[in-house]
Amino acid sequence: MADTRLAGIGMTSARTRDRLVQRLCDQGIADPVVLERIRSVPRHIFVDEALGSRAYEDTALPIGFGQTISQPYIVARMTAAVLEGGARLSKVLEVGTGCGYQTAVLAPLVMQLYTIERIEPLYQRARVRIHELGLNNVRLRHGDGTVGWKSMAPFDAILVAAAPQTVPEALLQQLRVGGRLVVPVGPDGRQELIRFTRRDNRVERQSLGPVQFVPLLDGVAAS
Ligand code: SAH
Repeated sequence: MADTRLAGIGMTSARTRDRLVQRLCDQGIADPVVLERIRSVPRHIFVDEALGSRAYEDTALPIGFGQTISQPYIVARMTAAVLEGGARLSKVLEVGTGCGYQTAVLAPLVMQLYTIERIEPLYQRARVRIHELGLNNVRLRHGDGTVGWKSMAPFDAILVAAAPQTVPEALLQQLRVGGRLVVPVGPDGRQELIRFTRRDNRVERQSLGPVQFVPLLDGVAAS
């Protein structure tokens, strides 16, 4: 029963997923490891059952609490931007777990993944999904990701799934030298995906193009 649910049928079947992967490939996602994760992570279990038949469309979908599951193309691009360079990353931080889909795509590609979500019911739900998928190198936390996860720093990479107006200084400080921070920055309608790389005495900045994310908010959500 559980196996059938994860494998999917009809609109959530392997064929539907192959079409999504082909589409991302056509749009320039070239990393075969990333494409294989998009193919194998059952995105339909992260959305409401009523939306299951749309899970392999390349769109963001509502997950409640005014939030969305990220568009597969964006998840693929963020993952590729974090991994680029080849070396296996040992410690990665994700800010904005949401439903846990991006978490699930990235987890097996790194040694240890830490992820923070400010909305408690989303954090709880993501925990169940990540556990269900057997991803046991993930530590989830309910909290404010703008301050990072100091006790686990420094990180090889930090991926932020919500857009701050300006880059939180704490996140840059929690990168190891050579580490990268992939983050959408700017106000609604004018966000840019940026990859910062920390060097000895400076931070390099590379623009990866315009994007659209929900805002990164301070503090934890009131429950
Ligand atoms: N990649 C996620 C989508 C996340 S949407 C997925 O695939 O589901 C962005 C998430 O960031 C939302 O769940 C939002 O609640 C969360 N968020 C916003 N500000 C935050 C903060 N300061 N700390 C932690 N999470 C935050």
